[in-house]
Amino acid sequence: MKLAVVGYGRMGHAVEEAALQRGHEVVARVDGEEALREALAADPPLGGARVAIEFTTPLAAPTAIRMLARSGIPVVSGTTGWGARREGVEATVREEASRGAALLHAPNFSVGVQLFFRLARAAGRLLESVESLDVHVLEVHHRHKLDHPSGTARHLAEILVEEISRKERWEEGLGEGMVDPAVLQVASVRSGENAGTHVIGIEGPDERMELRHEARGRSGFARGAVQAAEWLHGRSGVHTPADWLADIFG
Ligand code: NAD
Repeated sequence: MKLAVVGYGRMGHAVEEAALQRGHEVVARVDGEEALREALAADPPLGGARVAIEFTTPLAAPTAIRMLARSGIPVVSGTTGWGARREGVEATVREEASRGAALLHAPNFSVGVQLFFRLARAAGRLLESVESLDVHVLEVHHRHKLDHPSGTARHLAEILVEEISRKERWEEGLGEGMVDPAVLQVASVRSGENAGTHVIGIEGPDERMELRHEARGRSGFARGAVQAAEWLHGRSGVHTPADWLADIFG
């Protein structure tokens, strides 16, 4: 399949490598809004790509996805940190669906992390009935990352708050004084070149447990994004990672 890489940074390069490994052709690599505008105005737009894989920045992603949607090009989006503008972007994709626009956004395209989300939900259901156990989320990433907490940590926290009724909301960091037990704590660390570590910590009076996911590099995210592009090809409208993963996990 002809694929375009939108955002040719660390993830863009990893996606290109994964796409080639899976036998695809990368017909466009665009970096920056102006380059994207020019590539979409060309004939054929974006080198004739059937799906664009977007890993840009939290600031750039909403505009980039809208531009691609208006050109009828399906987008696999991995950029995190733009959740506040998600509804508007999805509305544009739906408006343009009849011309082929499609969106599959995931804060984490690693298939292992998607499994980790399911384990988090199962853990949350069990923790609901064991009141003596407290729970928190910790994430560590490389120091170049722009947003915090990571999109993956947010999603883990949302799952746990949904499943554990004594946790009313999640908050990042610590305020003054004692921590409210109704708050699920989320902590972020930025250090070195860590590709992404997520921990669900479970603390009891006599014991502790951890559910832990560590990315060994970017290739797992990139391979998942390419697999998602294969799945999105031929579909239109807005899709969730659960739609895509139903084919993998059943
Ligand atoms: P990066 O800074 O290395 O690369 C981003 C690139 O996008 C840069 O080269 C920048 O010039 C380019 N860019 C900026 N605006 C653009 C625009 N309008 N059009 C095209 N290109 C544009 O960052 P990265 O490490 O590759 O991460 C990118 C994003 O992906 C971050 O939000 C990160 O959190 C996220 N991420 C997601 C996953 C996942 O699985 N979903 C995994 C890793 C990283």
